[in-house]
Amino acid sequence: MSANDDIPYKTYLAENELPSEWYNIRADMKKKPAPLLNPATLKPVTAEELEHVFCRELVKQELDETTPFIPIPDEVQKFYRMFRPSPLIRAYFLERALGTPAKIYDKFEGNNPSGSHKLNSAVAQAYYAKAQGLRGVTTETGAGQWGTALSMACAFFGLDCQVYMVKCSYEQKPFRREVMRTYGADVTPSPSMKTNVGRAINEAHPGTTGSLGCAISEAVEAAVSQDGYRYVLGSVLAQVLLHQSIIGLEAKSAFDKLGVKPDIIIGCAGGGSNLGGLIAPFMGEKLRGEADYRFIAVEPASCPSLTRGRYAYDFCDTGRVCPLQKMYTLGHDFIPSANHAGGLRYHGMSATLSELYDQGLMEARSVEQTSVFAAAEQFARVEGILPAPESSHAIRVAIDEALRCKREGKEETILFGLTGTGYFDMVAYQKYNDGSMCDYIPNDAELEASFAKLPRC
Ligand SMILES: *Cc1c(COP(=O)(O)O)cnc(C)c1O
Repeated sequence: MSANDDIPYKTYLAENELPSEWYNIRADMKKKPAPLLNPATLKPVTAEELEHVFCRELVKQELDETTPFIPIPDEVQKFYRMFRPSPLIRAYFLERALGTPAKIYDKFEGNNPSGSHKLNSAVAQAYYAKAQGLRGVTTETGAGQWGTALSMACAFFGLDCQVYMVKCSYEQKPFRREVMRTYGADVTPSPSMKTNVGRAINEAHPGTTGSLGCAISEAVEAAVSQDGYRYVLGSVLAQVLLHQSIIGLEAKSAFDKLGVKPDIIIGCAGGGSNLGGLIAPFMGEKLRGEADYRFIAVEPASCPSLTRGRYAYDFCDTGRVCPLQKMYTLGHDFIPSANHAGGLRYHGMSATLSELYDQGLMEARSVEQTSVFAAAEQFARVEGILPAPESSHAIRVAIDEALRCKREGKEETILFGLTGTGYFDMVAYQKYNDGSMCDYIPNDAELEASFAKLPRC
């Protein structure tokens, strides 16, 4: 550690310094994200239409583009105290290992039993479902982090939780499944025979191991066909970015306390919720012209929605039951193969982040998974934390930027989102350690075939 640098290894906020409001980045965007469209009428969806599928208060948040700060309900603030604040870590050991003059910080969201940032939104969504007097919620989960977080939150509020888990994960990650069942959730492999859309997909693609888009369709159908149920989603939606702003707000306060200002803020991007939450208050300053930062979204080369996708209206799910969203998308039928970062396999991207990217306010980079696991191991060996494969995408680019600083002799300050731990991903680590992991990059023809199926509107 450098002698003239007395920044602590970890910075925590005190309980009474925790944010009591979420920050809604859309309020500061001059050009707002495009509205969600009803797939039948192609008109902007109304609150009433959305309330058949989603909880009332969450619909309000989804459609609110003007209120900058939204109070965090007391019950949610109390729950947050079980695992928040999360630490802002100065990754001194990584800096030393890289020999870089850059200062590297990470905001670590893996210190809760569900192991990722997803609990920040799960608890909010479960709270609003309970407050509305619902019996339960339905959802999908890919890698399992969202299902785990939601089942924890539902257990706390006494709600029934029905999870449609992408079949290949259901089979490959039996322990994830058991964690959810331990918290009281009902877990069904998707596509299942329980829903019309699941039966149709099973018939059209016998033996399919499922996809996120397909599990979403099943969960939505399950919600609208049962009394007292609503559907909840763990990423992509504006409401989820709103809840995840807690990450950025805490990070910003901690930096203010230290008297430090980051130059570059990096996050992995699946549906965009952790990145959207991490950058929110910083992007707000940039939008208001108060400060400048570089923001970098990192996605897998196998599922490159920002770097190679189209900015267009598309379905959010394979079964086409959800509203249409304008976003960077690879097409709703796109199924990425051989990518071990399960949480980064969604075909689209948050509309808010898509718009910010389109306006040139954010950069994006795609990285191949073997280089991601190399970064994960380099990080784990010096900083101790065993990162989730998703998070390791951000680590890869943080290391790359720190090495650029070394070449250029620059002392930039880098912040990256360390979204979770990788203990349920050891099969992926095993493949990497055995040298049997390969990289997969879709070719242009594959993407073109998928773009051809984008809805015309
Ligand atoms: C789900 C997940 C992600 C990606 O989701 P976003 O909505 O893009 O944040 C990243 N990291 C972890 C650990 C996850 O579980």
